[in-house]
Amino acid sequence: VPCVSWWASIDLSPEAAGFGKKVLVLDYVVPTPLGTSWGLGGTCVNVGCIPKKLMHQAALLGQALQDSRKYGWQYEEQVKHNWETMVEAIQNYIGSLNWGYRVSLREKSVTYLNSYGEFVEPHKIKATNRKGQVTYHTAETFVLATGERPRYPGIPGDKEYCITSDDLFSLPYCPGKTLVVGASYVALECAGFLAGLGMDVTVMVRSILLRGFDQEMAERIGAYMETHGVKFIKKFVPVQVEQLEEGMPGRLKVTAKSTGGEPEIFEEEYNTVLLAIGRDACTRNIGLETIGVKINEKNGKVPVNDEEQTNVPYVYAIGDILEGKLELTPVAIQAGKLLARRLYGGSSTKCDYINVPTTVFTPLEYGSCGLSEEKAIEGYGKQNLEVYHSLFWPLEWTVAGRDNNTCYGKIICNKHDNNRVIGFHVLGPNAGEVTQGFAAAIKCGLTKELLDETIGIHPTCAEVFTTMDITKSSGQDITQRGC
Ligand SMILES: Cc1cc2nc3c(=O)[nH]c(=O)nc-3n(C[C@H](O)[C@H](O)[C@H](O)COP(=O)(O)OP(=O)(O)OC[C@H]3O[C@@H](n4cnc5c(N)ncnc54)[C@H](O)[C@@H]3O)c2cc1C
Repeated sequence: VPCVSWWASIDLSPEAAGFGKKVLVLDYVVPTPLGTSWGLGGTCVNVGCIPKKLMHQAALLGQALQDSRKYGWQYEEQVKHNWETMVEAIQNYIGSLNWGYRVSLREKSVTYLNSYGEFVEPHKIKATNRKGQVTYHTAETFVLATGERPRYPGIPGDKEYCITSDDLFSLPYCPGKTLVVGASYVALECAGFLAGLGMDVTVMVRSILLRGFDQEMAERIGAYMETHGVKFIKKFVPVQVEQLEEGMPGRLKVTAKSTGGEPEIFEEEYNTVLLAIGRDACTRNIGLETIGVKINEKNGKVPVNDEEQTNVPYVYAIGDILEGKLELTPVAIQAGKLLARRLYGGSSTKCDYINVPTTVFTPLEYGSCGLSEEKAIEGYGKQNLEVYHSLFWPLEWTVAGRDNNTCYGKIICNKHDNNRVIGFHVLGPNAGEVTQGFAAAIKCGLTKELLDETIGIHPTCAEVFTTMDITKSSGQDITQRGC
């Protein structure tokens, strides 16, 4: 009789076990329509952050190779990229992480079942493994961390012929000419690294890029991707995908219609169609209705109080399935760790979901913390804000002959609160590394004055934030001179 049942929150269950609790973890991956499946550790490790960043790195190395000639490197042979080699290396690394999680669960005496869990009555779940064998388990407390899976548009050919990010990172063949459907960060990141690896890539966008993110930054990302070879078809949605030829990859015909009102039709052939139109919470087939846990019927998300407790007191939820919270790995981990400490360690610290930094790993990375300009205007009023901004030219880009007016930083300050920084945005190399430290400063109450008093590290990209003196409202030119 386990005391706690953590569903698939691998990083967190050892935390509870560390408090002497008997813990059971269920983690079961329902294969994709094309049959792709993976190991222990959830989305981030297997089909999210980890393979995505590694493929992004593979693409950046291609760019570095181009730059290297300007720095004197000479090589004769033709440079080619081998998809299979990359996938094998990344999958081997993921395999080592899967193994590491198993070991760490065992070391903490956490029971792990590779079984699908669903509630059958209060405090009781049914666990079904791959072979259909069923076991039943009761627990005092349950933590739901079932995450999300990619959404399909429900058009003819979607599940038969299209792939999603769940298939891409272990795809055994090079995808070739690819249509990416969607404009989320997953769509743009995948489009970016596929183009960087030499693929002919088109992104089909229903309305806007990166909904929810600062739109000026989103537009700049899109513009850079276009110069980077990614094509965009805006205001279209696919209505049908047909197979013209089987193969690895095969040939597909996509028919799309305009969302702009005109009866316009678009048709084109691709080798691969990658759907990245959003993700749905895995909360509808786990028996929540049986025990009375409420979900938002529209999006399947689970509302919780500020202690991650659902409306059923013995059931908690963390991670991507939470309503109104950020869908990021470190957020899920932090919430779970703090929950275990509150439940069993006598702590009262709650997870702080405000000012969480994040980075979009598009070819030119975008890091942000705090509010977008739109949200800041909505919350504080334009007249109460001062936005400082600057274009910058990374030193590494100068000799390489790369564009001097692409990288961009801006901060949004609240004039009525000592010019406190309420939004931080950077578009440039290593944006995640740049943003992390500033996020800590924002948590400490960073103001414009403090940034001005901070001495920069020269020559870096991040130093631009210590010397920003042009406000957006001044309309002054921020273009960098020099070539
Ligand atoms: C392509 C992509 C890139 C991403 N990049 C980043 C990034 O760069 N940085 C970042 O912070 N975040 C990133 N994310 C988001 C990140 O992966 C998620 O926020 C994180 O994995 C959420 O953790 P979770 O525990 O809520 O769910 P998940 O990691 O999805 O884990 C849920 C697990 O539960 C299993 N499960 C579901 N239902 C059941 C059931 N009934 N019984 C048993 N097991 C079940 C699932 O199979 C899965 O293994 C990315 C996501 C994607 C898709």
